[in-house]
Amino acid sequence: MVNLKILNKEISTWIEEYPLLEEIINLKESLWINPQYNKFEESIKNISLSDADVLDAENRLNRFAPYIAQVFPETKSENGIIESPIVKIDNMKTKLEDRCGEKLIGNLLLKCDSHLKVSGSIKARGGIYEVLKHAEDLALQNNIIALDDNYEKLHTDEVRSFFSNYSVVVGSTGNLGLSIGIMSAKLGFKVTVHMSDDARQWKKDLLRSKGVEVIEYESDYSKAVEEGRKQADADANSYFVDDENSKNLFLGYSVAARRLEKQLKDINIKVDSNNPLFVYLPCGVGGGPGGVAFGLKLLFKDNVHFFFAEPTHSPCMMIGCMTKEHDNVCVQDFGIDNVTAADGLAVGRASGFVGKTLEKLMSGCYSVTDENMYRLLATMADSENIFLEPSALAGVCGIVNILTSKEGKKYLRDNNLEDKVKNINHIAWATGGSMVPKNIMDEYYNKGVSLLK
Ligand SMILES: *Cc1c(COP(=O)(O)O)cnc(C)c1O
Repeated sequence: MVNLKILNKEISTWIEEYPLLEEIINLKESLWINPQYNKFEESIKNISLSDADVLDAENRLNRFAPYIAQVFPETKSENGIIESPIVKIDNMKTKLEDRCGEKLIGNLLLKCDSHLKVSGSIKARGGIYEVLKHAEDLALQNNIIALDDNYEKLHTDEVRSFFSNYSVVVGSTGNLGLSIGIMSAKLGFKVTVHMSDDARQWKKDLLRSKGVEVIEYESDYSKAVEEGRKQADADANSYFVDDENSKNLFLGYSVAARRLEKQLKDINIKVDSNNPLFVYLPCGVGGGPGGVAFGLKLLFKDNVHFFFAEPTHSPCMMIGCMTKEHDNVCVQDFGIDNVTAADGLAVGRASGFVGKTLEKLMSGCYSVTDENMYRLLATMADSENIFLEPSALAGVCGIVNILTSKEGKKYLRDNNLEDKVKNINHIAWATGGSMVPKNIMDEYYNKGVSLLK
């Protein structure tokens, strides 16, 4: 246990106020139910973002769709709309039942953002959106396009040469860098990605192969972001994608919700007071899961319940929201090392903007060990033939946590959901994996298999 004071309070005092902290500090898998969780109409009151902002983002992505279809031919079949499938994972559910020794009532689905085109992770939503928004702003200001043009017009050498006068900068553990790097380079921007030491070599290699400048640090995500911000501040033509505070990223992610609503309708899944939706989202800094969850809340209000999933070594959102200190604290303050195999989630300090926005909308957070993410990875591969990166598995045990733990059952009781348990649709958000090279995926898989023995 650490002896240092955190925000002028002894660690023992923190634990007295928030007893769950002791478990979290000891790296135990924990489930925190948000005591501030409240009815939608109350919770939304002091939030500045609204349906109109989400719609604006959706319309922007629609304007860019013809361009995207041209420059990323793999998106042609969906007319340039980058969207992922949702699938039922009954075999995986049976495996989860075997493991926890209880029947899991209800329906389990996987939202496969792991298979989003272009950048293979949830970042293909927010990251690509933010770059497009910046490009559109510049192009409109300089009379290169008008809002009602066909944006295929942007796919010329002249436009690329115009964008080459501007640069885009981002700090990342890997996947955000991939999406920002790939999209920016395609438009013609100069782009620099500042990578933390968690970032995998193949991601750096891939970016460099596309002409992206990659700067590496021997420290964690916060340092990479800080250096990126410094570089961008020094240059007026430079645009910094601020993963910790960006409303654009958040809105880009939020567009997922209306598309999901349609997908659920197509497979005859209802969301209403009799058919609640539970969604489990892997969380790093919070923008991705936060944006998606916010969009879902605007649509489904009290009929959707969302939980964030984090590694036991990086539970930054859980600690930030529980203590209500948000970005005033980081996991390292509490002696937690922020070292995890789930590189997409290796964040020690959560976004204050996201934590505060979701303060009363979030149902809770839970943590998962790296070993369990690996076990789930191998089980998912064997039972469903779906290959995900470790981070993307964190959401998959959410159904077990809610249905079988004391705290989870209490949450169901407190929200009058006990007699609706059989109608609940549980969605685990699979956030990445399809671009992981085969030899590395084999390593992940073999590690999971050996841990299952
Ligand atoms: C980035 C990422 C997340 C979480 O998104 P945040 O915006 O950092 O919270 C989850 N899973 C994967 C695979 C990611 O790359």
